[in-house]
Amino acid sequence: MLIGIDLGTTNSAVALWQNNEDGGEAVLVPNALGAALTPSAVSVLPDGNTLVGAAALERVGLKDGATATSFKRLMGTDRKQKLGKKEFSAEELSALVLMSLRDDVTAHTGTRPTEAVITVPAYFNDRQRKATRRAGELAGLTVRRLINEPTAAALAFGLQDKEEREPFLVFDLGGGTFDVSIVEMFEGIVEVRASAGDNRLGGDDFNSAIATAVRGRLDPDGLLGKIDERRAEALLLQAAERTKRGLSDGQDAEFALTVEGARLSTTVTASEFEAQAEGLIRRLRDPVVRALRDSQIDAASLSEVVLVGGATRMPLVRKAITRLFGRFPNSSVHPDHAVALGAAIQGGLIARDSGLEEIRITDVCPFTLGIETAEHSARGTVQQGLFSPIIERNTPVPVSRSGVFSTMGDGQKQIEVKIYQGEAREVSGNVHLGQLKVPVPPRPAGEVAIDVRFSYDSSGLLEVDVEVPLTGAKHNLVIIDEEDRKAASDLESRRKALAALKHHPREEATNQMLLARAERCYEEFLGDVRAVVGDRTRMFVTALDSQDPRRIADAAADLSGLLDMLEANPPL
Ligand code: ADP
Ligand code: MG
Repeated sequence: MLIGIDLGTTNSAVALWQNNEDGGEAVLVPNALGAALTPSAVSVLPDGNTLVGAAALERVGLKDGATATSFKRLMGTDRKQKLGKKEFSAEELSALVLMSLRDDVTAHTGTRPTEAVITVPAYFNDRQRKATRRAGELAGLTVRRLINEPTAAALAFGLQDKEEREPFLVFDLGGGTFDVSIVEMFEGIVEVRASAGDNRLGGDDFNSAIATAVRGRLDPDGLLGKIDERRAEALLLQAAERTKRGLSDGQDAEFALTVEGARLSTTVTASEFEAQAEGLIRRLRDPVVRALRDSQIDAASLSEVVLVGGATRMPLVRKAITRLFGRFPNSSVHPDHAVALGAAIQGGLIARDSGLEEIRITDVCPFTLGIETAEHSARGTVQQGLFSPIIERNTPVPVSRSGVFSTMGDGQKQIEVKIYQGEAREVSGNVHLGQLKVPVPPRPAGEVAIDVRFSYDSSGLLEVDVEVPLTGAKHNLVIIDEEDRKAASDLESRRKALAALKHHPREEATNQMLLARAERCYEEFLGDVRAVVGDRTRMFVTALDSQDPRRIADAAADLSGLLDMLEANPPL
């Protein structure tokens, strides 16, 4: 079975293509808690068991939370995060999320999926894409294709209306990344004309803005300064998230949290939020302008502006978009579901489901690919380390382009072709992908030319062909960088190590969620209240140990009743 996965920074989701009498449709698969979105959070419990999703997210603020979030931002890097006794890379944490989604599909359909289409931000570079692919493999899934998130969203929207050839813009503001794409659909062809973005901008930043705004007045007695700094930060950000959602539905919202038994609270108004978020709102403009310019489409000829990503639910974001484009955006597909649905549609295409009309996707190469060159400056010196693009950013793929380069020195015996990806003028600012030594016959400077051809397809493989016309010699390189080879070689042992981790049984998800919430409350309150929370929690744990479903249900009802009451009316 082939599934479609939106592996998000904040939330992930999984969807399936289902055939029916009208052809077919993509449907989301709920997780063990019945929700369509699974927070991309991983926790390791003191007993070594791992938790994924909402229960893991509950543990973020705990003293001993051992929880990782937003690790997608570290994809493609070597950074490891220590959870409990073990260290995890972003790739491995992502694999744990993918395993959890895979298990949700297994539980829902009775069949274990073996293949997946996974989405990535349009702005992901080669290294980040490969890391995502490996995460899928670590989770035991064959990754049939990686597609850009905006492309997936376009597919989700496209099946509803695809009559005319009119470009539209996908505006995707998630928890941690911002992507803008200009897409065209015509007679079954989806073409991404341009994409741009900011992979450091998202809903999380709006939470930080709220936390910063209230910090000065929230805590006159400095209670937050008395607890662990990281925990204080987590509590503030969790409270800010609630406030932000409140502000999506009303003119003001409470900002409240409980620390050391005391309740701290204040009110945030929409206009205060707007003033605080002004800098973030301003940053939304640049990628839009760049995408329009790269595609040579002006805002007026866009047929629509499509909203994707949970953060586009903020009224101030919608207002900014309306102002930017001079029209109201379209959010007819649920902004948080579009990407996963699109991935499932793509999965359906790959599986050549009969229910689906033929749709092809034309993607673009999201970054510029080129080689290092040197140049004689006006003063007669040689400037080294310059970047010469061969395939420009936003060129539709598959693509094959070539450039001609010649020797710089007299009697030069070889040309070193160093391949880079990026947008900087000097190669030092770009990502080095590989190199190739090409022997050439010694001649006076500038008399030997080489032809360098780059071929790039949507699977992300770059093929480099170099020809020396003078001798007819040909050289070829398929780019798989060193790091990648290293990572691939120990893939099998890493997969085994992950598979050996104990996962919390799926059917216990609700109980784990309750337990995490109880632990959070225990840490938030003091004195008698804390003792009562502790007692009821112990009773619940004893009930869990008994494995008697009725006892467990009773203790769970008791505990959640108590927590509901405490959270609604915290004792002062
Ligand atoms: P990602 O693609 O990064 O995984 P999502 O598309 O799921 O993210 O969006 C997550 C972001 O959306 C979070 O920052 C979350 O706070 C925000 N969000 C979700 N619902 C709302 C809402 N009702 N109001 C404001 N922001 C919201
Ligand atoms: Mg997203």
